[in-house]
Amino acid sequence: MIKVAKFGGSSVANADQFRKVKHIVESDPARKFIVTSACGKESHEDHKVTDLLYLIEAHVKYGVSYDSLFQLIVDKYQRIEDALGLHVDLKREFDHIRELIDQGESEDYLVSRGEYLTGRLLAEYLQARFVDAADVIIFKYDGEIDMERTGQKLREYARQADRILVPGFYGAMPNGTIKVMSRGGSDVTGSVIANIVNADVYENWTDVSGFMVADPRIVDHPLGIPRITYAELREMSYMGANVLHDDAVFPVRQKNIPINIRNTNDPESPGTMIMEDCSEQDKNDPPHAITGIAGRKNFTVITVAKAHCSTMVGYLRNLLQCFEDCGVSIESAPTTVDTMSVIVETDKIRKQLYEVIGLIKERCTPDDIRIEEHISQIAIVGREMRNQPGISGALLSEFGRNHINIRTINQSSDELSIVVGVADREYEKAIQAIYAKFIREERKR
Ligand code: ASP
Repeated sequence: MIKVAKFGGSSVANADQFRKVKHIVESDPARKFIVTSACGKESHEDHKVTDLLYLIEAHVKYGVSYDSLFQLIVDKYQRIEDALGLHVDLKREFDHIRELIDQGESEDYLVSRGEYLTGRLLAEYLQARFVDAADVIIFKYDGEIDMERTGQKLREYARQADRILVPGFYGAMPNGTIKVMSRGGSDVTGSVIANIVNADVYENWTDVSGFMVADPRIVDHPLGIPRITYAELREMSYMGANVLHDDAVFPVRQKNIPINIRNTNDPESPGTMIMEDCSEQDKNDPPHAITGIAGRKNFTVITVAKAHCSTMVGYLRNLLQCFEDCGVSIESAPTTVDTMSVIVETDKIRKQLYEVIGLIKERCTPDDIRIEEHISQIAIVGREMRNQPGISGALLSEFGRNHINIRTINQSSDELSIVVGVADREYEKAIQAIYAKFIREERKR
């Protein structure tokens, strides 16, 4: 059994968190590949090391002294080293980093130092072999990870030690210069390593016990989601529920490796398993009709009425072209016999709204155009929905019972999600009503 365990910034924020990580890693010999982010915030007022490094880079760029920011980072690592009795020569490391900054080293080099230093300390503490990401994670010149070269290098190192630790978030270009990924990229490093070593599971350790059925700021103590498919996760994250970097899914999904979201502060909790197919597990533990509820506020719905438009060849294309010509991306476009609605994020159309409307009037000669702002979109996601008739019916009547007006409704053709639009001011109430009906009531039965 091989597990890749990636620890996020909050999991390595201070010496106490390092202790928890050690306990987790040592409690399972299968955890052979460890990936770490840079130290995150210790408290609300604290700063993530990576944020400080980006700030230092800005100071360097404008020729402003960065000493006090640098010192914050030095102190943070020194505190961890002292508390845990480690022996990384931090003074030498920091002198070297300063020297390179002053010689004009790249931003990528500088901001990768958070992962590098956290990795150095954590590797010593876990007695794992430290492998610099610049020596194993190799990019191609187009910015993609070169899986073949990365694989060769990683396997070479893996043969030399029982447990290796690779800092996340960065790697090297073919000429050896350091390149970082986009923010949150350590998730991607973990996923790439899991793919290469054919891991049985990719554990992603963070500060929440996996995904919840609904946002806990809206629903009081929502249930956790024990299992979710990759496809369901896509629906949820596109609606704003985000725990994982988008690019982290592809490398593991390609090899059918499950991702397990776990909580470093509650290691007993099984967290959430993300899998291609949950049907085996579902047999023994049938899921709720609804896996999760996610949503976002602030959409604009533009409804165009034109008698018989649904039978006019090319009408919808013409309408959508008006948005495309103004560079506005579309969320969805539900239609009826005589109306077509286009739903867009308000922020994405604000500047071009009147231009778009002008084009529609000119090219589509509508009978009427209606613009509604402050609309929320709520996705009700569930792999079980297609097996249970009556979900949309129950949903509609629940909204009716709660006097919530549904503005738009859309079901994906694979019946994986139903997306309803309601007024922003009814957003929270709608989510609470769905949760009460489909999760609380079902549990009581
Ligand atoms: N430390 C980097 C960031 O804050 C990468 C990561 O944490 O995954 O974005």
